[in-house]
Order: sequence, then C-alpha cells, then structure tokens
Amino acid sequence: MFSTRVTRPGRAGVVEVAFTDRHGGVSRPPFDSLDLGGAADRCDEAKANADRVARGLGVGRLTVMHQASGCGVAVVDSAAPPQAPCDAMVTATYDVALCVRVADCVPVVLADVNSGVLGVVHAGRRGVTAGVVGATIDTMRARGGEEIEAWVGSHVCGGCYEVPAKMRAEVSAAVPAAYSCTTWGTPALDLGAAVTRQLEESRCRVSDVSGCTLESPDLFSYRRDGARSGRFAGIVVLKPPT
Ligand SMILES: [Zn+2]
Repeated sequence: MFSTRVTRPGRAGVVEVAFTDRHGGVSRPPFDSLDLGGAADRCDEAKANADRVARGLGVGRLTVMHQASGCGVAVVDSAAPPQAPCDAMVTATYDVALCVRVADCVPVVLADVNSGVLGVVHAGRRGVTAGVVGATIDTMRARGGEEIEAWVGSHVCGGCYEVPAKMRAEVSAAVPAAYSCTTWGTPALDLGAAVTRQLEESRCRVSDVSGCTLESPDLFSYRRDGARSGRFAGIVVLKPPT
C-alpha cells in the first residue's frame, strides 16, 4: 500500500508523510488494485481504496483536489475538498490529510514540523513551468512555515519522458534543470530535477523518494497505460502531540 512512509515529530505535533503504490486495494485490472483516481465508472472502487489508505494512516478521510494543471493553491482548514480546481493545497489544521494524485506528474509533499504548516503539489509540465511549487511555498511561508522539508515522489523520469524538441525548449527556458534526453537520445524533460531545483531555490530541504512510474510495475503510469492507468498518491497529515 505504501511505497514510502515517514513520521516526523515536531513542536506542532507529529507529521506523517506517505506515498502509495498500486498494491493493497480493491480495483480490478487494469486498475489493480489501489487506484485512487476514480473516473465516474470506477469511483466506488476508488472510494473504497481511499478509505483503506485513510485507515492505514489513522485519519477519517483523504482531502483530494480536482487537479487543473495550473498553479492555483487552495488553503484548506477542514477535511472537505476545495471547491475550485487547483494544483496545490496548504493547511495548518490537525488531521486534515492532504492528498495529491498522480500517474507520471511529480507529487510533492511539504511540511514544517515546528509550525505545523503542510502542503501538497501536483507538479506537471504546465505547473512546473508556471511556478506552482514556489507559489505553494510562498503560501506556506505566509502562514508561518519556516523550515520546510519536501519529499519528491515517483514520476516519469528524465530518461523516459520524451517530448517534442519545441516543448523541451519552452519548459527549459523557464526552468533550465528540466532539460533532458531520453535513454535513446531524443528530447526529454526531467520534471523531478526541475521541481528539486525549484524547491532548493525556495530554501527547502529535499528528500527524493522517487522511482520512475513508467519503469516500475508497482506504480501507475499514464505514459505506459494511457486511459487504462490508475492513480497513486502523496499524502501528508499533522496529528496532535501525544
Ligand atoms: Zn524512467
């Protein structure tokens, strides 16, 4: 169920960080089995899967967003999902389990264990170019986030994410670290490197917990499976001090 799980005690409470994989859920092939995406025809299974993940983390529910591939940041103070589409959420409320869902884009989880300000980011090509990572960190800092730690989760790697040369030129003009080549020598983007650079520029301490979605059978990949791909997730929650 979880590919990564981290517990960080701090002054504000205990921060739990988790990334899911595709195992331990109820969805049937090709979405087997822990698909958290849930298009209309499979939302019952996705809800059952989300409930399993929430139970695994000891929370009531996951707070998901309707992701828009832009750079909107929603500040949430309850477990209810944001009304408007967005690509990042920030909270400082106990037991609100922020959840970003992906299948190749970069899931980023953010936490300051002392102020208790948390964030998640859906960092796709458009969001990275538009600066969604920096916008999220600015929002966290405005709410008291100081020593922000970041976890970069699994995504399609810079050796696999082939794009047209023009697209590589456009994205790497905005974020030079995104420039990459596939292992077979064609233009590519390294969104993980781009996000890491943006996090470091925003003075975050970065932990890379990523694998390549396209190469790993344990993860969902839209590039590999298209419409037959599920979604996995990055999650962060602050629990009260014990
Ligand atoms: Zn790869």
